[in-house]
Amino acid sequence: MNPRRITRQIVVGDDRVGRIAIGGGAPVSVQTMTAGYTHEIDKCVAEIHKLAAAGADIVRVAVPEKKDTDALRHILPQVSVPIVADVHFHFQRALESIEAGVHKIRLNPGNISDRAQVEKVIDACRERKIPIRVGVNEGSIVERRDKQKRMKELGGVFGENKYGHMLAIMITKLEEYLDIFYERNFYDIAISAKSIDPMLVVAAYTEISRRFDHPLHLGVTHAGPKETGTIRSIAPLSHLLLSGVGDTIRISYANDPVYEVQDGLELLYCLQLRERKGAELIACPSCGRIQVDLFKLVQDVRKKLADEIELPIKVAVMGCVVNGPGEAEGADVAIFAGDRRGIIYVQGEKIANVPEEQIMDRLLEECRIFQDKVRRGEAKLGEKKVDILPPDPIGELGSGWEKIQREKSGVALPVMR
Ligand code: SF4
Repeated sequence: MNPRRITRQIVVGDDRVGRIAIGGGAPVSVQTMTAGYTHEIDKCVAEIHKLAAAGADIVRVAVPEKKDTDALRHILPQVSVPIVADVHFHFQRALESIEAGVHKIRLNPGNISDRAQVEKVIDACRERKIPIRVGVNEGSIVERRDKQKRMKELGGVFGENKYGHMLAIMITKLEEYLDIFYERNFYDIAISAKSIDPMLVVAAYTEISRRFDHPLHLGVTHAGPKETGTIRSIAPLSHLLLSGVGDTIRISYANDPVYEVQDGLELLYCLQLRERKGAELIACPSCGRIQVDLFKLVQDVRKKLADEIELPIKVAVMGCVVNGPGEAEGADVAIFAGDRRGIIYVQGEKIANVPEEQIMDRLLEECRIFQDKVRRGEAKLGEKKVDILPPDPIGELGSGWEKIQREKSGVALPVMR
């Protein structure tokens, strides 16, 4: 991985909700946005609580109308994470949000471009020490006096780039918009340059990272449903983060924003940009050797682990004894399923052989016991005491190659219980 790009740090939050640093070497944070109406106060508070519980560092809410900024006064005292107000077309909403005590403002140069209005927002933010994210998303429009000249210059710079024209527009817009901030000595700024095109996202953030030292908020906008939006988002974000670019991320799905938080965190854990919280689940993809309902088991285990395990215990759920032990290498707690049974190992040591209906409860119980031992200093994560030896496939689990061969030859087998 390339070293992280050093950016100016901004801080979002206050004494009550805590402070999240963005940029300047701080851990990459995960943001999301509520899907419900902000003016529905109780629902909005409940959604923010849910997103914070899922691990969101910062939550954004939309404030398109006065009733939304009025609601902020009631929402803010009830939540425990920093809140960003997403201001749409009216700068007055930004001023009202700041007055209500919001922790950050998001401005879109395409929506609020009147210089005097932008200056009022900047001054109010300075007074309250509130940072501003400038979101120069694809399609934003900012007029610039020497726009054509600068576009021509940048067009030359990006001449070789497939996205040269769009990059030139984005950079031009940013330069013009940020000039207003710099002229007022305001530098508490984060930048985003989202697009629905993942390759434009890579090109835009790469170019912006070379030209500005403000922290970057990464994202692919309107990435679509989770089923396709995951790859659309993760591919460019991984590339940028591995290149050292990006200080905070938001993954956008047309789905429950809890998934945005979960996937954002998982991405950062996988790239080793954040220390994992909670269990890490390894699961085999299943194949023709399977003799339990593995997909359901894995989903049930995932949900339970998320609810109950706080330490980064590696848990493996394997469908059989044939390849399972090798694939579960390094797991702290592992289950190998057989013929409607499962053998549970803790750091290589066989602990139990239970029927399918007891697998879940016993696996979780062993995870809890192991977690307690780690907390008491009696065990260490990732420490394998003994090699996992494949159990006798016929004797213990009633599955495996020998059984498969015998089934193929038409010999009836005794049911193992
Ligand atoms: S662990 Fe067993 S069941 Fe799962 S994919 Fe590997 S061989 Fe197939």
